[in-house]
Amino acid sequence: MSEPDAGTRSPRNFIEEIIEKDLQEGRHETVLTRFPPEPNGYLHIGHAKSITLNFGLGKKYGGETNLRFDDTNPVTETVEFVENIKQDVRWLGYEWTRERYASDYFEDLFEMAIRLIRIGLAYVDDSTSEEIARGKGTPTRPGEESPYRHRSPEENEDLFRKMRAGEFPEGSRTLRARINMASPNMLMRDPVIYRIKFASHHRTGDAWCIYPTYDMAHGQSDAIEKITHSICTLEFMPHRELYDWFIEKLELYPSRQYEFARLNMSYTIMSKRRLLKLVEGGHVDGWDDPRMPTISGLRRRGYTPEAIRDFCQRIGVAKRDNLIDVSLLEFCAREHLNKIAMRRMVVFDPVRLVITNWPEGTTEEVESENNPEDPASGHRKIPFGKELYIERADFMEDPPKKFFRLGPGRSVRLKSAYIITCDDYEKDEDGRITEIRCRYHADSRSGSDTSGIKAKGTLHWVSIPHAIPVEIREYDRLFVVENPVEEAEKQGREFTDLINTQSLNIIADAWAEPALAHDDPENYFQFLRKGYYYPDTTFRKAASKQKPFFNRTVTLRDTWSRKNR
Ligand code: ATP
Ligand code: MG
Repeated sequence: MSEPDAGTRSPRNFIEEIIEKDLQEGRHETVLTRFPPEPNGYLHIGHAKSITLNFGLGKKYGGETNLRFDDTNPVTETVEFVENIKQDVRWLGYEWTRERYASDYFEDLFEMAIRLIRIGLAYVDDSTSEEIARGKGTPTRPGEESPYRHRSPEENEDLFRKMRAGEFPEGSRTLRARINMASPNMLMRDPVIYRIKFASHHRTGDAWCIYPTYDMAHGQSDAIEKITHSICTLEFMPHRELYDWFIEKLELYPSRQYEFARLNMSYTIMSKRRLLKLVEGGHVDGWDDPRMPTISGLRRRGYTPEAIRDFCQRIGVAKRDNLIDVSLLEFCAREHLNKIAMRRMVVFDPVRLVITNWPEGTTEEVESENNPEDPASGHRKIPFGKELYIERADFMEDPPKKFFRLGPGRSVRLKSAYIITCDDYEKDEDGRITEIRCRYHADSRSGSDTSGIKAKGTLHWVSIPHAIPVEIREYDRLFVVENPVEEAEKQGREFTDLINTQSLNIIADAWAEPALAHDDPENYFQFLRKGYYYPDTTFRKAASKQKPFFNRTVTLRDTWSRKNR
């Protein structure tokens, strides 16, 4: 697998410009970024964008990148999610400098809260969450001060310590920053910074029953780690004022927040919460269902880390939200897979073809390149004999002129083998072709063809006695509309109502050339004239007696976009 490059090929994006200025002007000597997932689900292609950006910047400027789990909400977070996130980041080709957890800082964050209380900038509020919400006002109407806003620092500290000690029930009190109830930025209207939650945390267990909110934890964690450039998505723009407020009031290391547009992709969704709904609702076969936009789904489908990184590079770093066409991701997959995929022949819908002049009971081996794009990939041997399968669609009883495949009296080349000419065929009562009879031309063997016969088409084939049965899974878009969330809102429906019910097509009885039985299951494949395919995990388990099955990564060409636009 090739290493991620440092992103030096493309022109600089706006974040790189900021960093270079900071380095030139001596504001920073080095760059320290972080990727901060919340372990409440599996990573998706949007996270890949954030990962390539953060790790790419660290690499490009000779700096470092931390992996920080933003694990401040014990209710939704699990160790399983943590482990999968780590696996996905590594698979994408990145290694973090430090592994950190916001929960590592719970004690520091508690101390920071105490400091805010002592300087009169935080207070314990006994209001219910509804009362707090009501008191917030609206963007056009200022909020109202809570009746608890003027408690003394001593009383606040005492109450806050009692909150920590578990003396109050969940929901009965919160700690709020004391900022400005009339601020035009709603987030500055005395935001809640600690909540009581009697929930076990996947790392700290039952040590805590109060948990900091995102705003209380994120910037402070950045500052503790001395993150120089804290990069997040646009929806966090209004949080920046609060981010800076904490740093100023607590006199912390001056990390700075920068926002870029999140990646949205057509025909899918990009939110862990919604992806979880697909999993829990049984709409897909788990987080790594090959139709999911998760990293694990894409991996299982046969996407390569290189293709995903290339995609992230191509879409660039935008300042405005947009919708990226999923066909760009597919294009990147084709680009890379074409270079590395092993070529194999698999017949999906077989019809029997008999070579009448082939000597009974004999087999010959023909040779074919594993990948014409990569001479180092070598050759493989393929058995050829009297009885073959070809695709049913490659034969027509009465073909039009432009049909360069097989028909009565017509000649085609069988890939890497011989030219054959069709003499005859048989049908059953329903008119279905049951057997095609051909002659082969002994002097037409690929590589030493002296026959002089012109055959316009080349067909893939397998030798029946040698073929191995395989199952193929083809996937289509997960949703029937480009923007499922927006569209569902418009129609007043659930986004799950817009799922494409035809997104999985199983071809249970395909036949493959025997090489596939011995191939390294980590290989990526191109099935000739079909597309790119990847062995599914069940195939990888040597113990499994199941028929091997392959997921279609992408078709050979972008037939979809031509059909639909
Ligand atoms: P989700 O809604 O999918 O849970 P999130 O933003 O809540 O996304 P986090 O785990 O908090 O997910 O995100 C970790 C990092 O990845 C954050 O910096 C976040 O901004 C970034 N990120 C998440 N989704 C995208 C996306 N679609 N495009 C780019 N970056 C993203
Ligand atoms: Mg989140």
